[in-house]
Amino acid sequence: MFKIEKADIGHLTTLRIGGLSDFLFFPSTPEELVSLIIQLQDSDIPWSMLGGGSNLLVSSRGVRGAVISTTGMDWVNRISPDTLTVGAGVKMPRLAGQTSQMGLSGCEFMEGIPGTIGGAIIMNAGAHGGWTSNILEKITLIDSHKGEIFTVPASHFDFGYRTSNIDPKRYIVVEAKFRLSDGMPEQIQDKIKQYRRYRAETQPKGFSSGCIFRNPVSCSPAGKLIDEMGMKGFRIGGAEISTTHANFILNSQNASSDQICTLINRIQSNAWANKGIWLQPEVWGVGEFTDEEKVIWLHPNLRNNLSQSESKQAA
Ligand SMILES: Cc1cc2nc3c(=O)[nH]c(=O)nc-3n(C[C@H](O)[C@H](O)[C@H](O)COP(=O)(O)OP(=O)(O)OC[C@H]3O[C@@H](n4cnc5c(N)ncnc54)[C@H](O)[C@@H]3O)c2cc1C
Repeated sequence: MFKIEKADIGHLTTLRIGGLSDFLFFPSTPEELVSLIIQLQDSDIPWSMLGGGSNLLVSSRGVRGAVISTTGMDWVNRISPDTLTVGAGVKMPRLAGQTSQMGLSGCEFMEGIPGTIGGAIIMNAGAHGGWTSNILEKITLIDSHKGEIFTVPASHFDFGYRTSNIDPKRYIVVEAKFRLSDGMPEQIQDKIKQYRRYRAETQPKGFSSGCIFRNPVSCSPAGKLIDEMGMKGFRIGGAEISTTHANFILNSQNASSDQICTLINRIQSNAWANKGIWLQPEVWGVGEFTDEEKVIWLHPNLRNNLSQSESKQAA
């Protein structure tokens, strides 16, 4: 299995921020992945999974232990007229393109989402009314505590808006079985083109992790809220709120993870103070974050005194 020591993980994320991990592994089969996990668990080496790195903020201070990239796990097998088994490392736009050529509909929404199938299942990625969970029939996982690989119906898990109850610290997605429906390749491809155009018109180009916050349940979408607070274009160091879509933070000039955290904290503090709304990050953190940085993943009511006074100042 391909392995790199002291690998720069930032380059493997769409935000292009991050430090060195002790090890970076690229397994390409389920068997390689299981035996790697067993070895790491037995040696007490911490590990984290990396898909497309499109929903991750990697610490500029680096990541202790092993990072496991799924990019080598990239198979797509048609096992019946309307079902496919797909490796965890397959990129979503590739699956959208490949299934459109097969005349299979259901993956069109994946166009333009720069993640992998593993990440899509963990996050229940969705767009344009389509959700990963809607087409997912079975999932093959590794239980890292037991060192076992098993396949379960997707109905075994709960999926919601950008969430699943699959804990990526314990379970690793190896493969998905999708059930799609028959369609005309031209019509499916037209839909894909339409979604591609929509993204080009509404989302910024540049290094980002997509939407930085989940949309709050009972009010305007996060982007509209941030825009209403007059924060478009606001920046801290190289971290900048996009002027095209305010729910995107761009790494516009060699930003560090602490600049991203400070900017997220500033937005959250403003939203909490002015609108009473908790903007919960959609992005996940990997690596070494300080307690002050980690507060961005905590509801304001749970933050410590230090972060509360920081929030008040920022507001
Ligand atoms: C420009 C842009 C546009 C985007 N648009 C959308 C959108 O429209 N809709 C949407 O839902 N999201 C969107 N995203 C966010 C992101 O692409 C999705 O959340 C995607 O599902 C993340 O997948 P990934 O493979 O990149 O996961 P990563 O970012 O690599 O990882 C995310 C989490 O999943 C875990 N993980 C990854 N692979 C596995 C695995 N095989 N087993 C277990 N755990 C794993 C990681 O450890 C991490 O906890 C966008 C991002 C960008 C940059």
